[in-house]
Amino acid sequence: MRAVNGQARRPTSRRQTNVGGPLKDIRAAKHGGTQNSVTRIVIHGTVSPCQRGGAVNVAHYFQTPGAGGSAHYVVDPGEVVRCLAETTVAYHAPPNTGTIGVELCDPQKGAASRWGDDDHEAMLRLAADLVRRIAQRWDVPLRRLTVADVKAGKRGICGHVDVSKAFHQSDHTDPGDAFPWGHFMALVCGETPKAAKPAPTPAKSEPEETMPEIVSLGLEDHIVVPAGVDYQPWWTAEWKDTAGWHPAGGQSIAPTVDVWADLTAHVTLTGLVPGEAVRVGLTRHLADGTVVDIAWPNGQLSVVHADADGRAEVDLNGHVKLSATTRGRVTVRHDSVNEVTLDQSSLFKGILHRYQ
Ligand SMILES: [Zn+2]
Repeated sequence: MRAVNGQARRPTSRRQTNVGGPLKDIRAAKHGGTQNSVTRIVIHGTVSPCQRGGAVNVAHYFQTPGAGGSAHYVVDPGEVVRCLAETTVAYHAPPNTGTIGVELCDPQKGAASRWGDDDHEAMLRLAADLVRRIAQRWDVPLRRLTVADVKAGKRGICGHVDVSKAFHQSDHTDPGDAFPWGHFMALVCGETPKAAKPAPTPAKSEPEETMPEIVSLGLEDHIVVPAGVDYQPWWTAEWKDTAGWHPAGGQSIAPTVDVWADLTAHVTLTGLVPGEAVRVGLTRHLADGTVVDIAWPNGQLSVVHADADGRAEVDLNGHVKLSATTRGRVTVRHDSVNEVTLDQSSLFKGILHRYQ
């Protein structure tokens, strides 16, 4: 019986990662099974020229049966190419399960100053945007990991070299000593460095988000709710933007911009002792799960009592502010000695209205 369900959170921005077009998909030949959590996002250097078209070239290599490895994404100065779904294990920096590999087109030789040229800067910005979105989808902290962190299984962002040093399962040293980690992490975190060059992405690729976005979270199976803790279930999700519905999953409704969110949850719990109290509410959290507040209803979890069959149902509706740092969840708390389950009919939905 699974205690949790779903994998990552879904993103809510419909900004495209690519310049002026949708993400290109070129599927890699080599890959493992599925993964349902992400510990680290690993940055690589391809040992190939940093130029437009470079990502497609590398992806075509990954596509060949003779390719030695794979990655989830390859980035060049003009675009991001997706080679594998994030829920598929790529062969990029062993141990691979629970990691996402992002390849940056760079020859891995020459003057360190190459990372400051226009092509590298454009690529770094595309890659940073991509890494931030991956991190948001999987609740990965936006921090750079040391070798010791990687070894300890901490969650964050690192280079292939750090994984090599931590586990000695490969000898690769990319993305190399010259990789501008400080600048890159600042871009990942959305900071605008002083005297930064204008973003190479044309404005038309970042259209105004005028449509409400819809997030719908459900369960593929019931979930056993642990007793005595404020528990936030993991959901299987779909989210909608102008391009259509996209599958995802996670604990939170977490937009990448400031929104007013109309949140609705229908929570059905079974297995309670008849008459027993259970607490349910809409809660707001930081990215690491820290509770900001109980958003609905009225600053405390709502108390409902199980019926004669040990079943409790509650509807929650809230109009709350969410942002890139504040996300919405459903919290359930019970103290039953019974095995209490969140019924598969439970739902969590949000309609997000962007505001400036
Ligand atoms: Zn590598």
